[in-house]
Amino acid sequence: MAREIERLLGLVLRAGDRSGPLDLEAVEMAVRSSMHQAGAAVLDQLLGFDPPSAEQRQRPCACGHTARYVEMRSKPVLTAVGKAECVRPYYLCEHCHRGQFPVDVQLDVENTELSPGVRRMLAAVGHEGPFDRGRQQMELLAGLSITTKAVERTAEAIGEDIEVRQQRELRQALQLELPIPMGARIPILYVEMDGTGIPVVRKETEGRAGKQDGQPAYTREAKLGCVFTQATVDEEGYPIRDEASTSYVGAIENCDQFGCRLYAEAWQRGWARAEKKVVLGDGAEWIWNQASLHFPEAIQIVDLYHAREHLWSLAAKLYPNDSPAQKRWVMVWKDKLDQGKIERLVASLRSQAASRPELAEDLRTEANYFEDNKERMRYPKFRKQGLFIGSGVIEAGCKTVLGRLKQSGMFWTVRGANAIIALRCCQLSGKFEDYWEARTA
Ligand SMILES: [Zn+2]
Repeated sequence: MAREIERLLGLVLRAGDRSGPLDLEAVEMAVRSSMHQAGAAVLDQLLGFDPPSAEQRQRPCACGHTARYVEMRSKPVLTAVGKAECVRPYYLCEHCHRGQFPVDVQLDVENTELSPGVRRMLAAVGHEGPFDRGRQQMELLAGLSITTKAVERTAEAIGEDIEVRQQRELRQALQLELPIPMGARIPILYVEMDGTGIPVVRKETEGRAGKQDGQPAYTREAKLGCVFTQATVDEEGYPIRDEASTSYVGAIENCDQFGCRLYAEAWQRGWARAEKKVVLGDGAEWIWNQASLHFPEAIQIVDLYHAREHLWSLAAKLYPNDSPAQKRWVMVWKDKLDQGKIERLVASLRSQAASRPELAEDLRTEANYFEDNKERMRYPKFRKQGLFIGSGVIEAGCKTVLGRLKQSGMFWTVRGANAIIALRCCQLSGKFEDYWEARTA
């Protein structure tokens, strides 16, 4: 320790006694490195434990028998200031042959050579971007050398732990054991959901059909849900989302599992005591199935912009290569859509099917889409209540939360993807600090 401080002093003195310009960056980085070395030396001392006293050489084992002290064992622990050595007692149960390090549990370094401080940093950089960029950030920002694989493993382990805890809460919610959370008045609570493809390794898509016939899929759909609140509208009557009120849940899983997950989240956010409840989504059938199942009392709204897109794609088929005609047609029906006059639109599409036999199938499909969703498209009624009629929040959520898994050029296992999705949802919902605290409590 004294040696490190001496080195540090020498460094600063040499920098001060300069004839040329001061290279501040070189000096500050060298100072940090020396500080780290001094700190690691201190931690080294702190983590050198004494052998247990005679009366502490036995401990209960999980199997019900007794574990006995064997010897002192040492392992490296990477801390926020660099490598330290942890020397601590090792106990072994002769009955079940399970070993234990009580100190590791106490220090929160069980089965890992990374300190809790370092693991928290890795959770922060590991969810943000590609794991190798996380490694570079650790080097630059924290002065710590960590392998890309360690960034990945640690971020995934934390994500998996978050998921395990969430599943426990979810089971409680489904058993209706959760009390209705108390809190401030919630005028309007929204639930939105959407799905997007995540590139996965080959084994995860075996036996699944791809989007193109005969081609195997190389993505799996990750579903994302969000919950947010709205207390007010602006001067023009447009809804305003409450700041920092959005929380996310998501996973690659089937519709029913996801529906339960989103229900548990909405429940925690105060669904039961919200004065007005809204589910917003595009036209996908699974969304409305889950909405009816878990949120039957909610007002259901199909995203207006998504509905308009249906008009545009139909116009392109009705008037191929004639964009002025497409535009004219869309303008007429867009107005009807905005006015919630869905029956008029449906009737028109059905009557056109007779005169355009080659497009009859498309026209019928679209007529059915609008007919099935007509009650979810009464936009003037929703507007009058000051409600959101676009699902922009979940679409942006898909980009920010799930975009991370698409942009890195990585092919995921379902397990790895779900761990990072859980970690990311936790971070972006502002719940990570609570999780980290609760974890060791
Ligand atoms: Zn045992």
